[in-house]
Amino acid sequence: MRDLLSKISCNHKIGDYSFVQTTCPRCEGTGYYFDIMVGNHGDIEVTSGSKRLVQDILKALLEQVGSNIDDSEWGSELYKVRIIQDPTLTKAQIISSVVSSLKRLKVLMDDEDYQYGLPSNEVLSRRGIKDIQILRDTTEPRRLLIQLSLSDNSEDNIVVKTPLDNTR
Ligand SMILES: [Zn+2]
Repeated sequence: MRDLLSKISCNHKIGDYSFVQTTCPRCEGTGYYFDIMVGNHGDIEVTSGSKRLVQDILKALLEQVGSNIDDSEWGSELYKVRIIQDPTLTKAQIISSVVSSLKRLKVLMDDEDYQYGLPSNEVLSRRGIKDIQILRDTTEPRRLLIQLSLSDNSEDNIVVKTPLDNTR
């Protein structure tokens, strides 16, 4: 897989949202990240990585903050976003919720005292989040989809796509 990767200088933008370099979740302050080359319009539909990792990502995104009594930071605010109709108002909110819930998941995965249960090459990469797109469902225009592009520690590309109304 590694020979498909190219080192890319980071503009600290994920989707339409800009970060400052020090807090950028894609390059983590280093200024560059690795991306996979999959041709001109290479859209990898589903994951080549761990199914368990994908499930954990979805859990982190879709469970409400406060739903885990053992971890007050677990979960995301996305369940609030779905009730607001205008996606242009909420894109930044959606992206910041995605970023913070994935950061929490990453912290848990990196915690050596915490028995996470995934092989270390299957946990989220240190430079985990490569792209976040907020899309409209083509068959149901009022439904928004989150499409995430991530990598695990073996640099496998993982694409997770989920409708926001799963947060119900
Ligand atoms: Zn960056």
